[in-house]
Amino acid sequence: MESYPLDNLIITLNKEGPREYQKVSFPIRYGCFSEIKTSDTISQFNLNGEIKFIQGIGERWPHPAEWLKRTMGNDWIYYSAGDYKDIYDYFGEYYFPFLSYPSNSIIGNNPFGGDAVNYAMKSWQLIRGKIKELIPGIKPKGLKDFLTRVVKNDEKNLRLKSGQLHHLIDGQVTVLPPDSRHVDYEVIPVIVADGCLYNCGFCRVKTGQDFAPRTPKNIMGQIKNLKRFYGKDLRNYNAIFLGQHDALSAGRELIELAANSAHEIFELERSYLKGTFLFLFGSVDSMIHSEEKLFESLNSLPFLTYINIGLESNDPTTLETLKKPVSVERVREAFSRILDINRRYEKIEVTSNFVFGKDLPPGHYPSLLELTRNRLNLSRNKGTVYLSPLMDEGMRDKESKRELLRGFLKLKTLSRLPTFIYLIQRL
Ligand code: SF4
Repeated sequence: MESYPLDNLIITLNKEGPREYQKVSFPIRYGCFSEIKTSDTISQFNLNGEIKFIQGIGERWPHPAEWLKRTMGNDWIYYSAGDYKDIYDYFGEYYFPFLSYPSNSIIGNNPFGGDAVNYAMKSWQLIRGKIKELIPGIKPKGLKDFLTRVVKNDEKNLRLKSGQLHHLIDGQVTVLPPDSRHVDYEVIPVIVADGCLYNCGFCRVKTGQDFAPRTPKNIMGQIKNLKRFYGKDLRNYNAIFLGQHDALSAGRELIELAANSAHEIFELERSYLKGTFLFLFGSVDSMIHSEEKLFESLNSLPFLTYINIGLESNDPTTLETLKKPVSVERVREAFSRILDINRRYEKIEVTSNFVFGKDLPPGHYPSLLELTRNRLNLSRNKGTVYLSPLMDEGMRDKESKRELLRGFLKLKTLSRLPTFIYLIQRL
């Protein structure tokens, strides 16, 4: 780590943060990065010199433990510390990510639009302008190279780069699995299949396409191109998302090919971060019909694997209301297999999603407890249940959101599985 005072800037190169993701109630910067500090902001850059985090300093900034993060999809997220205890009970993390795009959040007071946050987001552009003037006089090569990369990565280039990411995988990642919170959503997406089996009426993240697996050639092409795309910053990653909405339906051969090739080509064993993670979605049918060998294979991969299954409801009227074309018997069968897989495979956790909202049919919540409480004798620490808020018109006001949060805590207390709220994040 080298530090350079330059005019009113302090530039620190090659900072090394913790190597393991942790659940903590203070800001942590994982991986390797470089930093530019001014009197009112700290801006941190990934190994490609792209802005990644901004934190304000001083009274104008809302809270000393809060920060902004830019994703590879070029979205800004504001990490709010909130009331640590409640936030953890709701989301399983000690912060709340406010998104700069519409989602299903039931936490209000989004800070985007506030003066301090707006200023911070513009501040690194001002810093770039200043650096541009300073570069010609800078001698140390490492410093000059870093600043040149920062100047090159202006807003336009970052926007183009996020477009390039979506072009390489041939699609937008409209939703990441809720389990990817364990790595702060820092995943490299590799698409093994498009579309989904059901195209449910209620769903806002679906592409509307029928389910179609990618070819092995396409998957290998993505991985090779993504390696070039992430470049130097690849060593800050240790997690893969196999997209899109039902990768589990793609079957053992494609999943093995994608997971093993990504591990090898991205050289994940050389990642700065410890451990390797694989995240994917599955469906009621892929959970029921996947061959046992697929789970044996996943369990033997060098990853800790999280599979998230959209069950939505254990009540036939609710499934009908949601226009989800699966029977309640199949939902129950899928849930039984989830419990079984979680019990038998040490390196796999299958989690499930259910909807959560104000005007759902009266059978929905009792039927949910039938699965998450009555089916189990004892509490379990594996097999998280995520409740995904349905943000229809009646849910936008503060009191409705508060009422829903109270309802959530009641369900959580009764559930014998870890239970959290699902905040839909894209990439
Ligand atoms: S809920 Fe899942 S299966 Fe249904 S349309 Fe959305 S992505 Fe597809």
